[in-house]
Parts: sequence; C-alpha cells; structure tokens
Amino acid sequence: MADQPSAVTIAYVHSNEVAHSWHMSLLELIGYDMANSGRVIAGGWLAMRCGTDGLPAARNEAVLQFLNTTTAEWLFWIDTDMGFAPDTVERLLQAADPVERPIVGALCFAQREMAPDGNSGYRVKAAPTMYDWAKAGDKQGFLARQTYEPNTLTRCSGTGSAAILIHRSVFEQIRDAYGPVWYNRAPEPEKDAEGIQRMMGEDLSFCLRAGTLELPVYVHTGVKTTHLKSVWLSEADYLDQYLVTQIKDVDPDAGRDAVDDAIIAADPSKCPSCDGARWIKDENWSPEYPEEQRGRLNRNGDYIGLLACHRCNPDGAAVRETPVAV
Ligand SMILES: [Zn+2]
Repeated sequence: MADQPSAVTIAYVHSNEVAHSWHMSLLELIGYDMANSGRVIAGGWLAMRCGTDGLPAARNEAVLQFLNTTTAEWLFWIDTDMGFAPDTVERLLQAADPVERPIVGALCFAQREMAPDGNSGYRVKAAPTMYDWAKAGDKQGFLARQTYEPNTLTRCSGTGSAAILIHRSVFEQIRDAYGPVWYNRAPEPEKDAEGIQRMMGEDLSFCLRAGTLELPVYVHTGVKTTHLKSVWLSEADYLDQYLVTQIKDVDPDAGRDAVDDAIIAADPSKCPSCDGARWIKDENWSPEYPEEQRGRLNRNGDYIGLLACHRCNPDGAAVRETPVAV
C-alpha cells in the first residue's frame, strides 16, 4: 500500500446542463490522471443532481456516499461552471497533508454585485473566495479578503466549495461532532442591519464547522481556475479596461500594484482597495493589524475596526466619509 497513490474521488452537484469549460477541463484532467498517478480513476466520481432540497442537501448526500461507498482518501469538489488545468488535483495534493493541511482550495473568484448599473442590471466585480474570521467588539463573522499573495499556499478561515480538495478524516470528524450535516446552512453570528437573522452559505457553514474542530482551511493561490458568469458590460467597464491597457503599454510588466496606483491617481474614487471610500471598513480588516493601524476608539473604548486605505488615503485623513463603527 505504501507505494499506492492515494485515491481522489471527484464530486460535483449538477443541474441538467454543465459548462463546456468544465466538461473539457474534466476530460483533460482525467487524461492527465491516466497518464500519471491514476488516483482519480481509482477514486471514481460522484455526480449529485441538485434537487428541491438544494445545494446543502446535494453536497451532504455526496459526502455520505463518499464515506459509505468509497475508500478514497480525498474528495475533490469541482463545480460544473468552473474551468481548470489538467494537473489541478495533483497540485492541490502536493500542497495538502492529511493532518496539517486537510482542506486545500484552488484560487476561485465569485461574482460580487457592487451597485445597480442604472438599467436594472448591476456593476459586478470578481472577488477572491477567501475569508477570515474576524471579531470587532462584540461582533464577529467571516470577512472577505480583498487582496492576496499570488502563487502561495495561504491559510484562511473559510473558502468556497467550487474547487477544493478535502481529506476523508475531515468529513468523519465533522460527522462525529455534528452528525451528517456537513453542509447544512448555519446562522450568521450577527443579525444584519435590518435585524434579520440570515444564514451563511453552505460552503462557509462547512468551513465554520471545520474551524470549530481546529481543522485548518487553506487556499493555494497558484492553482488557478475560471468561473463562468453573466455580466452587464458597460462603458464604465470599457474605460476601466482602457486605463489598464494604457498602463501596460507604458510598462508591460506593470503588476497589480502599479495598475491600482495608476487607477487611483486618475480618480481616487475608483480605488480598488476601498472602493473609493478611502477607509476600509470590514473587508481587509483583521484583528492582527498593529495597534496604530486599527482605526479609532468608539465611546466604549473599543476599536471600531476602520483602517485608512493605504492606497488612496495613507495619512488617514477624514475625507468624503466619516468613519462609522462596524
Ligand atoms: Zn483606497
């Protein structure tokens, strides 16, 4: 057994259609696997139709079948609207470890709707699916990371389920602690601004359960994916793109920082770090920040969790918007 490569079961939840990019990516991944380790062929696949009980139930059912009908060591979730490289499973596995790093996701982007576009659509933005568990005063919850270190294995508190490798023991430990409810949606720790108790997504609910059992979550930002989405293209998108093209014409190697700085120089209200607010409220804020960067104190003497944006407001001057407690 020592030389046997550990088997990986592919799992996905589907409707009646899948994306061509997913279909082709999966064919090539299986071809790569057959020419190399054979671990995916050994692990097989679990295709779960999304029924009336929705995504949490379909994911739970797939995990139940994984534990009861396979002996594979790892499960790889891959959503049917993703594109990915043939060696995705191998590269995630190289970064993973059954005990130290039992959950390793690929770099995935969600579509975040930022604002109405004026014509009944929305301005949208690609947002990396990496979340930190943060506490501010008596509030806590998952906060989306705005930026990340490229080509790095990075620990976080939560990520999505679109392309993620998970060790069998994680599912076993969650089942032993909570029952077979791996992906049931958990309540948000705080009510929203309207006082409504909302539920977390099934993916972050899973990460939350893993976190309570001290099972660490990682994302490998060098294992990249694409995600098929619908967008409302507008002149604003064209102008953003045009500006980036201009910068790249001057400096073909301009990295993200150079592009961001040029965008801010042209119009600080477009700052990609803070969306032009010049203060970073919840996103990107972490209790790990040094004291002097942690914003101001509220009436109770608690930090209110606001940072001056380091890109467009380095001195922390109160401009455009007065910071408010989060
Ligand atoms: Zn900014």
